[in-house]
Amino acid sequence: MIIAFLIIISVMIPGCLNAEDPNTEDPDNIAAESYFQGSGDIMTDLAYNSDTLYQVSTINALLEGFYDGDTSLEALKSRGDFGIGTFTALDGEMIVLDGEVYQVKDDGVAYLTNDSMTTPFAAVTFFEADETGVISEPMDKEQVERYLEELMPNRNIMYAVKITGTFEYMKTRSVPRQTQPYPRLTEVTKNQPTFELTNVEGTIVGFWLPSYMNGVNVPEYHLHFITDSKDAGGHILEYNIINGTVEIDNTYDFYLSLPQSSDLMDIDLSKDNNSELEMAEK
Ligand SMILES: [Zn+2]
Repeated sequence: MIIAFLIIISVMIPGCLNAEDPNTEDPDNIAAESYFQGSGDIMTDLAYNSDTLYQVSTINALLEGFYDGDTSLEALKSRGDFGIGTFTALDGEMIVLDGEVYQVKDDGVAYLTNDSMTTPFAAVTFFEADETGVISEPMDKEQVERYLEELMPNRNIMYAVKITGTFEYMKTRSVPRQTQPYPRLTEVTKNQPTFELTNVEGTIVGFWLPSYMNGVNVPEYHLHFITDSKDAGGHILEYNIINGTVEIDNTYDFYLSLPQSSDLMDIDLSKDNNSELEMAEK
């Protein structure tokens, strides 16, 4: 009777026998085992997968005026060496490049940051190029975007986008530091300072995200700029590139970290903010 019972159990739960079988080649088991055998901490291994987009808060929270973050730049840098975002009190545009975090304030100047500063919204990854292209003739923003899309294998995953080159023209904006009670993002960007650079060398840093990220982040392109001399930049509005290199990092994993703030819990994050998103971020 006991033998019969064990046979039934083993037929019903094939995994419990496979787990004992060293010859099992089930790829799911191998993947799971590698997580267990890595650092001994599954969550650490998942979070540090270099193809993870790590994000703090949501774009809808930012549009609603949630500007107080509780994630330090030190914590953010442990999740990626490349990305974009903003700072607590909406104090400028963030560019993360080669592990350094730059802050372009409302004077258009890029400042180095310190690790104790915090962010209410940011997205980073560890950048490793999967696709590379060369721009050898002048292109405007739309032409570069079409060229990038030729390099993307599909529209269903996330892409980190890096463009290094010489820019005939670069128009950016930043946002001024806000005080409580915070206005909505569209109120701030109505009077956003803009900056124009000409014949400048630098790097475009950002992401192309699928439409299903709507409400969580900015669908399609969201790109920031930092000069090679690390003295200026911002959120990109327009540009013309003379020549450069385009790199795309195919990104398959997504990790969302929500601030543990009662202010965030009081916001309605279910609203359709697409018209405000167009005004504030495009
Ligand atoms: Zn931006």
